[in-house]
Amino acid sequence: MLSPSDKALVPFVSVDNMMQLIHHVGLPEMLRGLADYIADDFSRWERFDKTPRVASHSAEGVIELMPTSDGETYGFKYVNGHPKNTVEGLQTVTAFGLLADVETGYPVLLTEMTMLTALRTAATSALVAKTLAPKGATIMAMIGNGAQSEFQSLAMMAIGGITHVRLYDIDPAATAKCAANLAGTGLHVTSCTSAEDAIEGAQILTTCTADKAYATILTDNMVGAGVHINAIGGDCPGKTEIAPAILERGDIFVEYPPQTRIEGDIQQLADDHPVTEIWEVLAGRRAGRTSDKQITIFDSVGFAIEDFSALRFVRDRIEGTAFFHPLDLLADPDDPRDLFGMLNRAKV
Ligand code: NAD
Repeated sequence: MLSPSDKALVPFVSVDNMMQLIHHVGLPEMLRGLADYIADDFSRWERFDKTPRVASHSAEGVIELMPTSDGETYGFKYVNGHPKNTVEGLQTVTAFGLLADVETGYPVLLTEMTMLTALRTAATSALVAKTLAPKGATIMAMIGNGAQSEFQSLAMMAIGGITHVRLYDIDPAATAKCAANLAGTGLHVTSCTSAEDAIEGAQILTTCTADKAYATILTDNMVGAGVHINAIGGDCPGKTEIAPAILERGDIFVEYPPQTRIEGDIQQLADDHPVTEIWEVLAGRRAGRTSDKQITIFDSVGFAIEDFSALRFVRDRIEGTAFFHPLDLLADPDDPRDLFGMLNRAKV
């Protein structure tokens, strides 16, 4: 366990420790906890430094840095998005992140964030759906049954009151995997053979597909009045999921407009197309759903403040546990100015 004298040792949460932490806390409880931390940080939205994430694009994917600070604590996430990776046995999305003390600049946490991103994305989706989805929504269509899909489904159950999920993926093996993983969780699962079949009777339509293309997962004629669309997979320039006509018919809610206009489904619309920032709805400053007929669309791309919240959650929850390793990440000479002497003394 770290002690205050170990300031130069940084707690590091490996993938294995993250998985143990999730099991220790319990997945539904952790999803609810993350949603609470995200809601808390969204309520302090104006205090944060905000910038669209810094993206390095290639033909195959993107590598991004996502920084933010509330003036006391600084955080960033490194994340990639490579849709073709899965055919080579690699993840589409991998991530790690860091939290630091603004006063000293010293890191206070380094952690894996591949698992954590799946949880925070799902917690954000469910927090938003709880606000925007039609009252009493119980059925969700889950289109795209890859790495995020079980987390999305279980968060919608833990936070959003969903009892039924209807799965569809162009790859039947992905649907079979997702259905098997959701067995015994309490969710009623139906495997479908088309997106049209999956959305039958659903009040929440989640799209979470990965293709570096202007894909149309939901066409205009598929979407009737009153549904909530949780659009997760369109999160990069040239990568979308929702037909522009649906975006024109619905009311669009986003995280941070300067980033979403570059990366979200709304990249297909005019730069001044009206959108509502979701933090304002959660804070009670702007209206969310105002009628039973309204189509609400959460054009999610994932914003740095959600990662900051997740990092804060992990920092708080590992305290007093064994779910981390102290990492020798920072040089710590006895005399702070004698870095060279420290090097000399280390000679064997
Ligand atoms: P993944 O590669 O594990 O799964 C994607 C699935 O989509 C695959 O099973 C694939 O077969 C399926 N698919 C592709 N085209 C389809 C189509 N036309 N119809 C139905 N299914 C289709 O990826 P993942 O980790 O689950 O991520 C999914 C998407 O979500 C990615 O684009 C990723 O960038 C994005 N994402 C967004 C956020 C956010 O905060 N908004 C966070 C994490 C991931």
